[in-house]
Amino acid sequence: MRLVLLGPPGAGKGTQAALLSEKLNVPHISTGDLFRANIGEGTPLGIEAKQYMDAGELVPTEVTARMVESRLQEPDAAEGFLLDGFPRTVEQAQILAGLLENSGHALDGVLNFRVDEDVVVERMLARGRADDNEETIRTRLRVYRDETAPLIDHYGDAIINIEAEGEVEEINARVLKALGK
Ligand code: AMP
Repeated sequence: MRLVLLGPPGAGKGTQAALLSEKLNVPHISTGDLFRANIGEGTPLGIEAKQYMDAGELVPTEVTARMVESRLQEPDAAEGFLLDGFPRTVEQAQILAGLLENSGHALDGVLNFRVDEDVVVERMLARGRADDNEETIRTRLRVYRDETAPLIDHYGDAIINIEAEGEVEEINARVLKALGK
């Protein structure tokens, strides 16, 4: 299965993707995790990405898309993937469409995790990641609203809405049901 996970920061996409990855037997590909791994290893990509991430802004699309393209070419992604955190803009969605078209594949759906803004702020403050302070959280929510939320219209009928408030297992059950699993 080839799925995109969409939703505001703090919606629990990463947690759900990790669970789904095991159940559907496809890799969880998180651009945020890939950037954080690069930062940890001190690669040039990590050094470039860090300044944007620390500010809560998007890493430039060219850099991000190149990283996604090479990750999708790895053998474990041949039969499917859960893309978490990409695309984040309509431009990135168009790039992804091009990559899929070149490989003769299509998305099976776009899971849209719906959560109240108060809940996501609470969740982000609780997880305490380096970029989870109040100022960057506010910036990331603004970036989500301005750049990412338009993807809901962009994907139209491919959108599968998931009410993402509640217990992790409960939300996971909703996702599996929505996917007919
Ligand atoms: P996440 O772990 O998905 O919350 O992403 C953490 C940060 O990584 C974001 O705030 C952005 O700075 C950067 N990032 C992750 N995915 C993308 C993307 N698709 N495009 C640009 N920047 C991204």
